[in-house]
Amino acid sequence: MGRILVEAMAKVNLGLDVLRKREDGYHEVRMIMQTVDLCDDLLFEKTEQAGIMIETDRQGVPTDERNLVYKAADLLMKKYGVQEGLRVKLKKRIPMAAGMAGGSTDAAAAFVAVNELFELGLDKRELMELAVQVGADVPYCILGGTALAEGIGEKLTGLPDAPECTLLIAKPDISVSTKFVYENLHADTLQKHPDIDGMLEAIYAEDLDGVVKRLGNVLENVTVKAYPVIEELKEWMRKNGAEDALMSGSGPTVFGIYKERKAAQRACELLRESGMAEQAEVAGLIEGNRISRL
Ligand code: ATP
Repeated sequence: MGRILVEAMAKVNLGLDVLRKREDGYHEVRMIMQTVDLCDDLLFEKTEQAGIMIETDRQGVPTDERNLVYKAADLLMKKYGVQEGLRVKLKKRIPMAAGMAGGSTDAAAAFVAVNELFELGLDKRELMELAVQVGADVPYCILGGTALAEGIGEKLTGLPDAPECTLLIAKPDISVSTKFVYENLHADTLQKHPDIDGMLEAIYAEDLDGVVKRLGNVLENVTVKAYPVIEELKEWMRKNGAEDALMSGSGPTVFGIYKERKAAQRACELLRESGMAEQAEVAGLIEGNRISRL
């Protein structure tokens, strides 16, 4: 087997709370993660010549060691003394610097693909333990589905699938750096925290209304203040059929929750016409990364 194609899925956060800033500068979080079927396509090929080569169709994506795919593949290949090389073709669809873990999910795909291509024999757990070295969200991206993430995001508890619904995902024409958002968040002064425990109960009870009622993301305190268009997009979605809407991760992507796929599709068309969003997509919730061997 010389080639593997991986569809690396994006995530949204149904809930995101920050508990405190740790002495080492990392933030301790409690997040409800959810995989959505918006994906990047990655084709991994073994090459006889050593080294890692990345090609991509999206401008602005680094193709050298700054790419998280490179970091992930390099880590595994060095650790297990792989002599051959790797070529990766990366087709990006997930909005970038958007709060949807685009880079992290590509890295997760690289862990899975390199393990299979070079027959390293690692199981999911072992891959997830190594993955945190590349980024706090990478272990979750390997796990996929609905999960509670704690610690810096690497302590994961798998949850039952979230209640069925459709998302309208929209990214305004701005990019937000995760670093900027966390640097400007003062965790100790937060007045309100999302009800993560209530959200967990709602997920276990398969109660979509309960999930919608508890949507919350403390990072909105920073990002929405800096970019009011995020609140405008949320408001637009609420007026256009969404049960409610929330910013994902550090933003600026917003997602609205719809009970009917058709209503989400109609709203998506309207939103595209309005020019309010740089990218707008309809997406379902799914259980994890899909891998197909060629
Ligand atoms: P998160 O939700 O994890 O905060 P994000 O959506 O904020 O992620 P990404 O799209 O993952 O951010 O990437 C942010 C930056 O990382 C990009 O601007 C790019 O320079 C760099 N990067 C490294 N690897 C990748 C990759 N595979 N895909 C996209 N960007 C990458």
